[in-house]
Amino acid sequence: MVDLAAVIGEQLECPICFQTPRDPPIFQCENGHLVCAGCKPKLANGKCPQGNCLLQRQRSRLAEKLLEKADLPRPCKYAVIGCFHEDKMATLPKHEADCGFRSVVCPDLDCVDRVAERDVLSHLIEEHAMIDLEKTLKIDKALDECLWVVNGDDCRVRSVDKTWPVSVFKCDGFVFFAVLTKPKSNGLWHAFLQMLAPKSLSETYSTEIRLASIDGDSSVVFNGSVHAVDRDSKRVIASGDCLSFTDAFVARLLRPFPEEQREAEDDDELKYLLKLDYSVQKKQ
Ligand SMILES: [Zn+2]
Ligand SMILES: [Zn+2]
Ligand SMILES: [Zn+2]
Ligand SMILES: [Zn+2]
Repeated sequence: MVDLAAVIGEQLECPICFQTPRDPPIFQCENGHLVCAGCKPKLANGKCPQGNCLLQRQRSRLAEKLLEKADLPRPCKYAVIGCFHEDKMATLPKHEADCGFRSVVCPDLDCVDRVAERDVLSHLIEEHAMIDLEKTLKIDKALDECLWVVNGDDCRVRSVDKTWPVSVFKCDGFVFFAVLTKPKSNGLWHAFLQMLAPKSLSETYSTEIRLASIDGDSSVVFNGSVHAVDRDSKRVIASGDCLSFTDAFVARLLRPFPEEQREAEDDDELKYLLKLDYSVQKKQ
């Protein structure tokens, strides 16, 4: 008995990437050789790789129909950058939403690079000189107590975007990013927690972010979502799912920067510390 699906799979395999086409269109040359839509643009000379035959915009409806009906396992859309995963169309999108090869924005808000999720930590180590990161991530903790250094005029200046270097920690074996930012667009301060994971995982966690004065007389506590690393800061802030507060509130909570920690080259500008606690809970 011939395994028809296997035969169709073999026949549809693209001669350039050696994979089953992920989606239509499937192109064919004047002699009926097939090329997938991803590889066709690479053939700059318009010639088919199998016989140097003329390859134009002609599609093979038969191949496209067989691809659809045979329900063959297709390669992940990140195959070109190294993912070897294959899945049937019903479950492939779920894999692709979680695939470690998908690109995300760097969690350091001053950086505009997009990197594969699986490369984020090495990107931080190499491009952001976070040389202690591997050591930091050996410790698992459910609470990241951040002391952000705030300049005297951070509570007044609204003409520039201000972001603080991201704080990275590990909880439950996963990596989290504690973020503090003050975009000029709205003049508010925003604190939120991101997770180096896709949404399907980040939504199984929640966060509590606490901002409090040194004497404990004033505080504000936020309970909300942990954001997937796929979600950039603009979208987090627009969603309202973060701790937001005003200049006046920060001004009440600042504590003086310890004199002994000031370095000689520090300018005369007054520095303060702002304490924010970011904690992670696994949802029940
Ligand atoms: Zn191909
Ligand atoms: Zn050909
Ligand atoms: Zn993949
Ligand atoms: Zn970066």
